[in-house]
Amino acid sequence: VCPVGALVERDHTWDVVTALADPEKVTVVQTAPAVRAALGEEFGIEAGTSVTGKMVAALRQIGFDHVFDTDFAADLTIMEEGSEFLDRLTRHLDGDTSVKLPIMTSCCPAWVKFFEHQFPDLLDVPSTAKSPMQMFGAVAKSYYAELLGIPREKMVVVSIMPCLAKKYECSRPEFMVDGNPDVDITLSTRELARLIKLMNIEFNALPDEDFDAPLGYSTGAAVIFGVTGGVIEAALRTAYELHTGEKLDKVDFEDVRGMDGVKSAKVQVGSHTLNIGVAHKLGNARKLLEEIREGKSQYHAIEIMSCPGGCIGGGGQPYHHGDVELLKKRTAAIYDEDLAKPERKSHENPYIVELYEKYLGKPLSEKAHHLLHTHYFKRSKF
Ligand code: SF4
Repeated sequence: VCPVGALVERDHTWDVVTALADPEKVTVVQTAPAVRAALGEEFGIEAGTSVTGKMVAALRQIGFDHVFDTDFAADLTIMEEGSEFLDRLTRHLDGDTSVKLPIMTSCCPAWVKFFEHQFPDLLDVPSTAKSPMQMFGAVAKSYYAELLGIPREKMVVVSIMPCLAKKYECSRPEFMVDGNPDVDITLSTRELARLIKLMNIEFNALPDEDFDAPLGYSTGAAVIFGVTGGVIEAALRTAYELHTGEKLDKVDFEDVRGMDGVKSAKVQVGSHTLNIGVAHKLGNARKLLEEIREGKSQYHAIEIMSCPGGCIGGGGQPYHHGDVELLKKRTAAIYDEDLAKPERKSHENPYIVELYEKYLGKPLSEKAHHLLHTHYFKRSKF
C-alpha cells in the first residue's frame, strides 16, 4: 500500500454493476484459472480449496448473461502458441537461420511490459500469441457474437483475473476494434469477492454449477496455466502429440513444477531432446533474457510468469504476503482440478475443435493470426 495514498488500487466493480443494469447490453464473464483456487479464502474457506462451482453460481446470481471460462481460451492459446513453437523449431532444425529460438510464452502482461522496456532488442523472441484473456475477448466478440446474431458493440466482456496488470492489458490500443475493446472490464479476485458481498450473496451456501457452453468448456491443460510451469507443461502435452502423431501416456511433466525460481527440463519429443526453461518473478526472467542477449541460452522454449508461483500468487488475489505454504496449497488445488478433468490436453477440447472447424480453419491460419496474435513495441527504459 502506498504510504502517502498517491497510488490507489483501482476498483471497477461499479462499472460491472452499471453494465449489468443496462438492458441493451449482453454481458459475458470469463474467469482465469487461478481465481478459483483462491476466491474461497475471502469467505473463510480453507486455503487450497477450489471453489469453481460456487464461483460460477455466484456469477449467475450477480446477473451475467453468459458465464464462461478463460480456460477455454487457454486451450486455444496452446493450439496457437504450440503450433508456433513447432513451426519455429522445425524451421530451425532444417537450418533456417532467420528463425529465432528460444520461443518465450506471452500470457503475462507484466512480463510483456517488462521486456518491451528492458529488452527492446529481443521483441521477436516471445510468441506472438495473445494472452488467454485477450484471445477470449477476441473470440467472444467475433465468433460468439455472430452465433448470437448481435454486433460486438452490444456485448460487454468482463474478465475476473488474479492480476492487476490485466487492467492495463485490456486497455492496450492493439486490442481494440474501432475503439471497442475485446475485453471491456477486468476485475481482480478481490474485487469479485467485494461484488459478491455487495450483492448479499451467501457464497458458502451456493450449490456447485457448471460453466455455460461453448466458451466455458476446458481441459486440465488449461487450468494449470494458473501456476508456474503450467503453460509450458500444457504446451508440451499438445506439441508432443501433434509432432509425433503418438499418444502421450504420461502427461505430468514434474520437472517443470515447483517453486524454484528457475527450473530446467529435458523433454524427448520424437527424435529431438528439447531444453525447457521456466522462471517466475522478473529477477529470474532477467537472468534468462541476459543469456539470450549474450547468445548463451541453451533453451528451445521458456515460460515466464511475473508473480511468485505464477498467477496463483498474483497481485489481484487475496493477500498472501509471500507465504510460500499458502501458495503451495493454491497450487495443489490447481493440479487436483487438472487431474479431475476428462480431457487433459488442449487439442482434445471438443469446442476448440469445433471453433477451428467452423470459424478459424486451422492454427496459425490468416483468421487465427488476425484474431489471436499480436505484436510488441519498443518502449523507453525510463
Ligand atoms: Fe498477472 Fe502475475 Fe499472472 Fe503475470 S503472473 S498474468 S502479472 S497474475
